Amino acid sequence: MSTPAILLALIIAFVTLEFVLSSVLSWLNTRWMTHPIPDVLQGLYDEERYSRQQAYMRANKRAALVERCFSYVLTLVILLLGLYGWLDGLCKSWTSVPLLQMLLFLVIFNLFNTIIALPFSYYAVFVIEERFGFNRTTHKTFWLDTIKSFVVSTILTALLLGIALWLYQVFGQQFWIWATLAIAVFVVFMNLFYSNLIVPLFNKQTPLPAGELRDSIERAVAQFGSTFSDIYVIDGSKHSTKANAYFTGFGPKKRIVLYDTLMQQMTNDEIVAVLAHEFGHYKHGDTFRNMIVTIVTLAVNLFIFSLLVGNPDLPAALGGTAPSFILALVAFSLLLTPIDILLTPLANALSRRAEYRADAFAAQHGHAEPLISGLKKLAANNLSNLTPHPWVVRFNYSHPTLAQRIVALRNASQ
Ligand SMILES: [Zn+2]
Repeated sequence: MSTPAILLALIIAFVTLEFVLSSVLSWLNTRWMTHPIPDVLQGLYDEERYSRQQAYMRANKRAALVERCFSYVLTLVILLLGLYGWLDGLCKSWTSVPLLQMLLFLVIFNLFNTIIALPFSYYAVFVIEERFGFNRTTHKTFWLDTIKSFVVSTILTALLLGIALWLYQVFGQQFWIWATLAIAVFVVFMNLFYSNLIVPLFNKQTPLPAGELRDSIERAVAQFGSTFSDIYVIDGSKHSTKANAYFTGFGPKKRIVLYDTLMQQMTNDEIVAVLAHEFGHYKHGDTFRNMIVTIVTLAVNLFIFSLLVGNPDLPAALGGTAPSFILALVAFSLLLTPIDILLTPLANALSRRAEYRADAFAAQHGHAEPLISGLKKLAANNLSNLTPHPWVVRFNYSHPTLAQRIVALRNASQ
């Protein structure tokens, strides 16, 4: 067997491994649906609402199964027919400028992925979410959002990979050092300006008007020993009835963002408690640490990629007939699948630890009970699964389960 054939076989094996693993986790979760509800969550749903929750879970599970099988088969077809290599050759026949070749590849690749994902996201929004009363997205918003997401993600990937390719042409194998620096600047920039540049494309943000809620929030923020004048309300109700709140940015660009849906569902005490949790993240430097972790992970990836980028076997594994930066990158990221599979539960374990810490922060400042009642409301309104399988939690959950959080909150406030 030639090296490209071995690489292709490895890629197919890895993609299959990922498919099997996610199928097994989904199957485990379904089996756990009939598991008794934890004591601390008794009474969260009445009987009718609980059967609705179970129906919602089944509908989502079926849709996910169809999508998973479809994209697995599609990936196999693309790999076995060498369609990545074919597309690369096509782009190369249109222009002789390597940068343009890569940009053409990216635009077509992104467009293809967007079109393939469309029926699934359409079904999720207008059939499942609609049937269970969550959907607030109009058809116009849906199509505009799809177009905007495609344009934004294409511009951002084209920009980043364009810079990476240019650095590779200038610095050769050493390009990873400069590419890491460029990406670090980009990550910091996006953290600072995400609220100003990206969010307004999809949502409207307005400053939280003066009043009782603003007073309670400012009092709480002062109690945490900080000042936070940028409190915004976002029109989450444009898309869904589901609610959220978050902190974003750092330094002078830090801001609190509340969904209007959160304000409709929760009392002021509960909102302040949710913000106390978010403030816990801020105090523990979680945002900053996530940023550093992202940059370091990218640096390691880029370093390994720099050792392989010139190897003609990588593009050849995907059906390429000439050296190609983008094909090497696609092959490389597919070959990283097992490392991703290993790192995902690790990253989620760290994230869950950070969530416990943020909850403990809220509890220490006297917000345990309103946080518990707020989280329960969110779970009930969102028809959350109260009995996820422990292995699914270990692998996929960035947050502890509601039952785990309630127990830990009560312990921390004692
Ligand atoms: Zn959190």
